[in-house]
Amino acid sequence: MNGKSVYVAGHRGMVGAALVRRLAQENVRLLTAKRTEIDLINQAQVSDWFARMRPQVVFVAAAKVGGISANDKLRAEFIYENIAIAANVIHAAHTSGAEKLMFLGSSCIYPKFAPQPLREDSILTGLLEPTNEPYAIAKIAGIKMAEAYRRQYGSDFISVMPSNLYGPGDNYHPEYSHVAAALIRRFHEAKVAGSKSVVVWGSGSPRREFLFVDDMADACIHLMKNYSDERPINIGTGSDITIAELARMIAGIVDYRGDIVFDPTRPDGTPRKLLDVSRLSALGWQAKTPLEAGMRRAYEAYLTTQASAID
Ligand code: GDP
Repeated sequence: MNGKSVYVAGHRGMVGAALVRRLAQENVRLLTAKRTEIDLINQAQVSDWFARMRPQVVFVAAAKVGGISANDKLRAEFIYENIAIAANVIHAAHTSGAEKLMFLGSSCIYPKFAPQPLREDSILTGLLEPTNEPYAIAKIAGIKMAEAYRRQYGSDFISVMPSNLYGPGDNYHPEYSHVAAALIRRFHEAKVAGSKSVVVWGSGSPRREFLFVDDMADACIHLMKNYSDERPINIGTGSDITIAELARMIAGIVDYRGDIVFDPTRPDGTPRKLLDVSRLSALGWQAKTPLEAGMRRAYEAYLTTQASAID
């Protein structure tokens, strides 16, 4: 990567912005493009931009993402936009001669009942979790494209699979966000309003592994430098907690002292999504941010976002 031109697709998103922060420590020529400059679901615009800019290294951090409800309700948008982004960017990187590309997948691509912790070779061994099947199929398509371009053309294209990400730059939409951002906002608003109870979706028993987004960016840079293999590689912390435990932790951080009520009419999704990170550990990387410290930083970032929204 040293001295190379590096394009981050999706630099305004939570992960892309963290990659841009982390790349500031590297000797690279960073390339980004606003949505008005390239719409990543428009093939002609993507291939024109790549032909002109010829990035040497590409991070595909652009995606349409959301929590369990967004995945379930916006099924057509999730499958169409994510397949289009993966197809357009990976193919344009190939035709414009990129030396290396990293495609960002997701832990939801694993079968719903795959053995835990989830090993990379569990991909396509069983049925997916129905709530996020369209998104998962699009991400599997991207992973398989990277693998196919490597096999047919010898391209150094790799894929990574992060666990559930959280941190600065998250989306706090009340219905469509992921759980950490949703609960930070809901507990904060309940504290401010003096509410006596806060609703948490589902049973509280699903287990999730949460990775701080700046740790994710650091792992991506490490793998961009040290990994070259057709098999995707997991990025996680190696430990998980229940949604009920997460809710109590966030309530404590926010200093909300009312009740927590679970809403069983909302879906739980996959019972557990803990990644096996042994291959990543063997490459000399491990997550640095403890969960509670990361959630505190995420809450601070949320408060900053709130303050700037009022200014
Ligand atoms: P998932 O890992 O794809 O299921 O993504 P989410 O982050 O959306 O949800 C994780 C878990 O948190 C699921 O079991 C949800 O039911 C649960 N959950 C509890 N409250 C909320 C909430 O307010 N928003 C979201 N998105 N999930 C919630």
